[in-house]
Amino acid sequence: MPLYEYYCADCHNTFDALRTMDKADATIQCKSCEGRHTSRVLSVFAARPKAEQNKKVPTTVTVGGGGGCCGGSCGCH
Ligand SMILES: [Zn+2]
Repeated sequence: MPLYEYYCADCHNTFDALRTMDKADATIQCKSCEGRHTSRVLSVFAARPKAEQNKKVPTTVTVGGGGGCCGGSCGCH
């Protein structure tokens, strides 16, 4: 059974739960406050800050690198 992570909007707590895949998006009770305003947190979201950082690097290189090269740092022809 896969382990899913859930977020509770009532107490802003995250908790893990083992559930079958077809129950993954079903409402689950918060383990802390027993509230039901919970939503599933996808593991993709957890890795998102890293992915955004990696995305920024090529953009910076493309924009800054082109100008920096002809700026004299690498000897423009
Ligand atoms: Zn809660």
